[in-house]
Order: sequence, then structure tokens, then C-alpha cells
Amino acid sequence: MPVPTRYDVSRVALQGGYVAKRCPVRAQLDVLRPTEPLAASAVAERRMARGRAFEVEVVAALVALQPDAVIINPRLERQSREDATAQAMAEGAPLVLGGRLPADQAGRRVGEPDLLVRTAQPAMPAYRAVDIKHHMALEAAAADGPAGPSTRCSTLDDPSLEAATLDATWAARRRRDDVLQLAHYQRMLQACAAAADGGCWGGIIGVEGRVVWYDLDAPRWRTPSSSGRQKARSSMEIYDFEFDFRLDIMAVAEHHLVDPSIEPLMVPVCIAECPQCPWWEHCTSELEAGSGDVSLLPGLGWRPWRIHRDHGVTNRAALAGLDLTTAQLVAAGVDLTPVLAAASQADPTAPVAELVAPRRRAQLGHLEKAGILDADAVLALDQATAAYSGAGMAALVEHIDLARAVLGPAPAYRRRGIDAVRVPRGDVEVDLDMENVEDGVYLWGALITDPAGTGLVEAGYRAFVSWEPMTPEVEGALFVDFWCWLAQMTEMVVDSGASFRAYCYNAGAENGQLRRLGLTTGLSAAVETFINSEHWVDLLRVFGRQLITGSGIGLKAVAPLAGFAWEVDDPGGDLSMLRHETAVGSEVRTVREAARVWLLDYNRNDVEATLALRTWMDHTASHLPMVGS
Ligand code: SF4
Repeated sequence: MPVPTRYDVSRVALQGGYVAKRCPVRAQLDVLRPTEPLAASAVAERRMARGRAFEVEVVAALVALQPDAVIINPRLERQSREDATAQAMAEGAPLVLGGRLPADQAGRRVGEPDLLVRTAQPAMPAYRAVDIKHHMALEAAAADGPAGPSTRCSTLDDPSLEAATLDATWAARRRRDDVLQLAHYQRMLQACAAAADGGCWGGIIGVEGRVVWYDLDAPRWRTPSSSGRQKARSSMEIYDFEFDFRLDIMAVAEHHLVDPSIEPLMVPVCIAECPQCPWWEHCTSELEAGSGDVSLLPGLGWRPWRIHRDHGVTNRAALAGLDLTTAQLVAAGVDLTPVLAAASQADPTAPVAELVAPRRRAQLGHLEKAGILDADAVLALDQATAAYSGAGMAALVEHIDLARAVLGPAPAYRRRGIDAVRVPRGDVEVDLDMENVEDGVYLWGALITDPAGTGLVEAGYRAFVSWEPMTPEVEGALFVDFWCWLAQMTEMVVDSGASFRAYCYNAGAENGQLRRLGLTTGLSAAVETFINSEHWVDLLRVFGRQLITGSGIGLKAVAPLAGFAWEVDDPGGDLSMLRHETAVGSEVRTVREAARVWLLDYNRNDVEATLALRTWMDHTASHLPMVGS
């Protein structure tokens, strides 16, 4: 029986908004259930429990502020909750809490928005959906962002979009999973004729306690189009595509269960979601078979994986075996297909200039620079690699190098063109690392060293930490303490004529927190100056620009190259969140103390790891082989 070309999704179970934002393979495996799914980890359990507790807090605040709010009883059966929600909306309740929207049978949707906020529309009551999320919904607006205020925020005492004010200092965080969920509710509101006029909008209440509004029609996502070019699409467009795609996948999976001759649509592709997925064990065995799937290479992504697959390259060994010279020409934009065709018809000694169309002089330049001077040399290029011409694979050389690095005998390689690995150094150096939970940063750790022997600083580890329950005041006071210390030390060292460097590993995380806290504490200008100065070094970038491993280059993965090992068991950011809960909230003093010691040791180890890594990079990494050599 052939696979249906139009999938009948009417037998697919009704789906919540989460399906659109999750891996499509997971949607398939949720139907096929090839094995027992893994249970949620303790870290995931904690995240869910904290999310539920936060939701309860916000709902209590809303109820206190909004006496007319209708709360849908969570103990009712699903159908009764749908009926009660529909009734509350029909009666024009200003706010519906804990509702369940009427099931959208045609669209195969169910959904439970945390809030339904009535609009000021005079005629029929109309609503917008808002979800409560236990994470930050705002970040400091980029200095080079769009001119003028662009973020709409409303307060809990009037959470409607109409009451929102424009804010120039903060930007709504771009969280794809949040907006896809809001788009799901929007389609459900439209299906039951309860959606507000004036475009598609939805809100997120994050730990800041404000409603941050998202224009779901705004074309803010860049995705590949069928022409291979990038196209800006709205959250609604992305949602519609992703949701329908997964319904099709599930429909085919349902058919497969009845008739195994129908092949499921998806095969596993390694993505960031994998380690937390209940099907990870199942997918890993497929992904790691043989030399390993190409998606195991870091940062590869779904689209390049698809292009490799379309070219018959499904594993890392095949990718590593592609020809580098040919790949460099493809990546430079040379269309080798007509050049190869012309060469096959020409005399082997025919100059390459005769094989390239006159209007493609730039391509000719690339060929000549690569030493491809005649038809014979063109025909010596690798056909399989040349087949990537026109596929939009600018990163083809990088992919080949990643595959060669991970399959090669050395644990790491110098990148092409890197003769000596260099690390910016200072007379006085500080390695920095922060630890945070969803509501803020509770620990700034610093390891001070004085490699030039200036005697200006006291070497050693220093922690700025608070074990108070996290509040904006606690976090702000801690940050100011830390920042004043760092700023004074920088100034003192520089004023004395010595050079100063501070190192972090992955400035993306640190800079986001520094900018946010700079904004809330009035230190924005100083923070921005520091971030953009030569004093601030992102060691991850220094590593990634010069060295290549073919695996992830997180600190835990690369510090062992320098022989560094963490003293604490099972070091990891997620686990540190679990420990933080104990460190702050345990009623048993000894348990609390043990968790605090663990967290301080863990943070100290992190900064010791960056010191060890940069020392190794500076002294030893230049002796590593060059990739592909
Ligand atoms: S393990 Fe990865 S590929 Fe497999 S279903 Fe989960 S997220 Fe998708």
C-alpha cells in the first residue's frame, strides 16, 4: 500500500501546543512507542514543579487584583472545563484563569492557556491568550536594536494589550517555544470565534511579573525558503507549518502501525532537545551506529543534515571523505555543474577560462586560485562533492573539517590556517563564572591570578554569593557588590600601567545577565563599556576560532584536554539548580551547608577550568596537528 500523498489527520489524537515546538521525530515516536520512554530526570521534574509553583503565585496575585476573574475549577473533567471556559467567555468575563478552550476538532487541537484576557472590543466578547512561564520574558534592549520603544508590557492589575505601554529599555526575549504555544491558542480562539480583532497577539508573564506582549503576525523569524534563500516569517506562519507537519507525521505513523509496509516519515536527527527527550536512548542507538550520523556534529542543524542526506552523505565517515578542494570551490559559490559538463566535452588541455561562462569571471578567479587551470584539472575534482554546487552549503568545508576532527586520532586539532594558538593575556587576570536559577544570579565567582607578579592583587578564588531566596533586591545588591569590586580592580590595575584581562567561557550567557543587571542597577553604561573593551575575553570564541574537535566545545567537554577534572561529582548547570534549591530551602542545616559547599566548589572548579584551559591553549595547543593534514 503506497504512502498517502494527502494525509488524513482525522484519526490523529487532538494535540496541545507543545507538539509544534518539539522535535518532529518525537511526535512520530509518541505514536509508534518503539520502546519504553525514559522517565523525566530529577532536573526536569524540578523545572516542572517550580513552574507549577510560580503559576500558583501569579494566579494568586491576579485573583487579588481582579475580583471579577473567573477561575475554572482544575478538578473538573476536561469536557466540563471546556464548557465552563466557553460559558465564561460567552458571558464576557474580563479574565478567565486556568481555562480549557473548546476542542478544535477540525484543527486537531486542545489547549489550556493560563489566562484569557478580554479585549476592549464593544460587541461580542473577544479574548487573547497569556501564558505564565517560570523564566525571564524580558532582556535588556540591544543598544543597536530598532529605534524607538518596541516592547509592549502591561501590568497584572490590567493585563490587557490595550493597557500595555511601550518600553524602550527592555526587549521581549525571542523564545520560539513560547510564541508557538501562543500561536496555538490563537488558532483555537479563532476556531471558536472568540479571538480578538486587530491581529494575532499573545502574552507571556515571566518572572518579572509583567505581561510581555508578542505580535504573532510580525515577520521576526528567518527560515529557509524553497529557493534556498532566507525568508522572514511570522510566528503564526511558523506555527501553522510546524503543527501541520507533525499532524502529517503522526497520521503516517498511525498508518504504519496498521500496515508496516508504510514507512514512517522521519528518522532521528540530533538536535539540542535530544538530551532531555524521553526517546533519547532509542534515537542514540540509531544516530551512533557506524561512524555516526552527520547530525552528531556540533551546530550542524536540520537543513544542512537534509542537504547532506539528499547528496547520499548520511554518516560522518562519508562526510569526512569528501574532497576539500572541491568543497572550497562549492563553498565559494562556484557552480561546478556546467564547468564539469564543459570539461567533459573539451580537450584535456583546454584552459579553464574556456569552460566558464564569460559572465562568471568571479568563479573563474576562484578556480584559478585553487590551481584548477585546465579541463583535465576540472575533471579531477570530486564529483560527489561537486554535486553540492548550488545547494546553499557555505559551511561545507567546516562540516568536512568537523567530521575529520571527530574521527581523527587526536582529541583536538588546529583549524586550517592557524599556525600558532594564541590567547590574549594580561599582567593581572581574572576568570569569572556566574551561577543562576530561573529568577536570577545568586553567585559570581572569580579566580584572580597575577602571572606577571605585579603584587597589585591578592591571588585566589573569591565568591560573591547570596543564599537568600532570590528577589530583585537580593540579586541587585549582590551584583552591585561584585561589579564595584571588579570595576575597582580593573581601574587600579590599568592605572598602575599593568594590563588586565577577565575571562569567561561563553559570553552569551554572562553578557545577557550583565546587561540585564546593569539596567536594573543603573550601571548600564559601565557594563556596556566593559563588555566591549579588550579587558573582556570570551574563551569559548578564542577556542572555537582556533581549535576544532568535531564534538561539543562546552567547558565540561574541552577542559579535560588540559588535564583538568572537576572535584565535585556530576558537575553540570542543571544539577546546580537542584543543589541551589537545597542550599536555600532545606530545613536541615547540615544538608543546606553541604549543598552550599558543593555549589561553591563547583563554581571554583569552573573558573579553575578556564584558567587551566587557557594555559594549555597558550603553551601546548600549538603542537596539535592541523585538521585534515
Ligand atoms: S531523541 Fe532527539 S531525535 Fe529523538 S525524538 Fe528526541 S529530540 Fe527527536
